[in-house]
Amino acid sequence: MCPMNIREGFDGSVGNTPLIKLRSISEETGCTILGKAEFMNPGGSVKDRAALFIIDDAEKSGKLKPGGVVVEGTAGNTGIGLTHICNARGYKSMIVIPDNQSIEKIETLRTLGADVKTVPPAPFANENNYVHVSRRLAESLPNAIWANQFDNTSNRRAHFETTGKEIWQQTDGKLDAFTCATGTGGTFAGVAEYLKQQNKSIRTIVADPMGSGVYSWVKNGEFKSQGNSFSEGIGIMRLTRNLEGAPIDDAVQVDDSEMINILYKLLRKDGIFLGGSAGINVAAAVKVAQQLGPGHTIVTILCDGGARYQSKLFNSDWQKEKGLTPDLVD
Ligand code: PMP
Repeated sequence: MCPMNIREGFDGSVGNTPLIKLRSISEETGCTILGKAEFMNPGGSVKDRAALFIIDDAEKSGKLKPGGVVVEGTAGNTGIGLTHICNARGYKSMIVIPDNQSIEKIETLRTLGADVKTVPPAPFANENNYVHVSRRLAESLPNAIWANQFDNTSNRRAHFETTGKEIWQQTDGKLDAFTCATGTGGTFAGVAEYLKQQNKSIRTIVADPMGSGVYSWVKNGEFKSQGNSFSEGIGIMRLTRNLEGAPIDDAVQVDDSEMINILYKLLRKDGIFLGGSAGINVAAAVKVAQQLGPGHTIVTILCDGGARYQSKLFNSDWQKEKGLTPDLVD
């Protein structure tokens, strides 16, 4: 046990992140909009929590043995969290990542020492999809486990036991709504389930980027998508085990121009530098605030920081090429 203000290693530093009042949009909406600062986790994202629970559970069940290899298919952040923990505990990591994810995340994984395999993007139904490639690799290697973040509910439990509980405690239970996007669904489902257990009247609303099927699934019961998004790590076309049974009251859809404008507003007015999925989440929180009206408290997730996307979202040439120049640049 460490003294109260000292955290034990990487693992002990995961979680207990600040809950930040986002001043500009709180003033604009007359609501209190709070962002859980997951970019302040030691591996830089919300996925450190899932990575820690997945590895802890694999050790406890005896599947992960000394010197073992943790294999995962990831948009990057889960791989980064897993690799940090593998390094700290004497395991190796092998990470399969679609080659359209940001170069910053891919290079970070390499620097950390992961065995990185980039693959062309492919839909989940295609056997060359990164998730299936990672499963086959895990099956073919000796002393390896597949982290399986989409369907391994250690992920959701991490957010039920930590993120959800922290939000409840940090707000003193005084919140009206929670919204965030889904990649595996672990964050949304774990937090929503915890909050609903404390107070059924808290509204739990999925945020969804274009190109993802969750919005239409919530509204009409079918995973259908329209358009596309340059956000990374979010958007799904199937009901993962982590999302299954989650309490969902509603969904809101956010497009990339709304995402980029809110990212620049947070950067220039609040001094907070965030990644694309956090932009989708905060834009969704603003929509929920507008729906509920002034005087409400809405919580969302600030999944990771903007430095992971400097070569894309925050690059003016890229923005011009994609037609995503932000409204507010100074
Ligand atoms: N944002 C980013 C940047 C992510 O990497 C992820 C994880 N894929 C998410 C959001 C979504 O989190 P979850 O998997 O818990 O739904």
